[in-house]
Amino acid sequence: VDGVSNIRYRETVKEIAERLLNSSGVIVSSHIEPDGDSIGCMVAMWRALRAKGINSYLIWEGEIPNRLKFVIENCEITKEEPRDYDTAIVLDSGDLNRLQPAFRNMLKNCRVVINIDHHKSNSMFGDINLVDVESSSAAEMALDLIEELGVELSFDIALPLYVGLITDTGNFSYANTNRKSHLTAIRLISVGVDPYIIHKVLNENKDIKFILLLGDALKSIKLKMGGKIAVIRITSKMLDDNKFDPREVNGFIEYARAVKGIDVAVLLREEDNKVKVSMRSKGKVDVNKIAMALGGGGHEKAAGCEVEGDIDSVERTILNHLEELMGSYK
Ligand code: AMP
Ligand code: MN
Ligand code: MN
Repeated sequence: VDGVSNIRYRETVKEIAERLLNSSGVIVSSHIEPDGDSIGCMVAMWRALRAKGINSYLIWEGEIPNRLKFVIENCEITKEEPRDYDTAIVLDSGDLNRLQPAFRNMLKNCRVVINIDHHKSNSMFGDINLVDVESSSAAEMALDLIEELGVELSFDIALPLYVGLITDTGNFSYANTNRKSHLTAIRLISVGVDPYIIHKVLNENKDIKFILLLGDALKSIKLKMGGKIAVIRITSKMLDDNKFDPREVNGFIEYARAVKGIDVAVLLREEDNKVKVSMRSKGKVDVNKIAMALGGGGHEKAAGCEVEGDIDSVERTILNHLEELMGSYK
């Protein structure tokens, strides 16, 4: 049963709308290392609350990747603590550690913390938890709430939601793509979102250095565990050689995932003394289990974590976890 027809989901959406209408002020934010979904739904939610005449603040002090800046431009971003708020909406964030410290501190002053998310790893940190792992994106869930609030869906609200929807579904290609994600797209396109314009901005707009770095990374792809795992690397040297900002790296893991016959794709990106790990499952392997065991999180088929150590030892750690988990399926 997806969120469209799930009664408990609908009741929780109603309860959240009521709380918001009775609040004195709402702070809105999302997870660090922002992506299209997190930025998209915090922008849309903030705009929708404002449109409804609810005093609301978009709390963000960190960086936004260049490729996603268009989503948040023209927004009033609040860096300092606002004077009047009693309610928080946290979007697309599995746990409190994924929040900026300043925002996390503000949660202590809230009467109601509303947690809207679709991660399997969600720790249910809210006073109200709207957590639906069947939703492809938090943007999809945000739209349900926006409609429940009776806010007219404007282009300025639909565009960031559409960005969230297509980035989290990989342009409607991943296993999380379902009937509801397409229904959501219809609602957003109906108010003027142009799919090809957004596709061009997001996917046909790469700095040539991005493509050259991708070339280097592609040469690193190796098969492991008898062809069941594909590992792709982005080393510090590759980043230096191409003078490329690691925060703008995106989507490289898709090429490892594309290999025939593999169950899991792994991306290892070197940072100072740790490695950022991304995992994608093509079948029954629940990569969220491994990510959570290593202090990260995510979804059954897409998860990530950061592991201390050099890239070779982190690779061994991940492969050991995969070996154990995949052995347990046989
Ligand atoms: P990524 O591999 O970074 O694209 O992330 C895949 C999924 O795992 C996303 O839904 C992320 O929110 C989640 N994720 C990635 N890294 C972490 C982390 N360190 N902690 C919790 N969740 C994470
Ligand atoms: Mn996200
Ligand atoms: Mn998401």
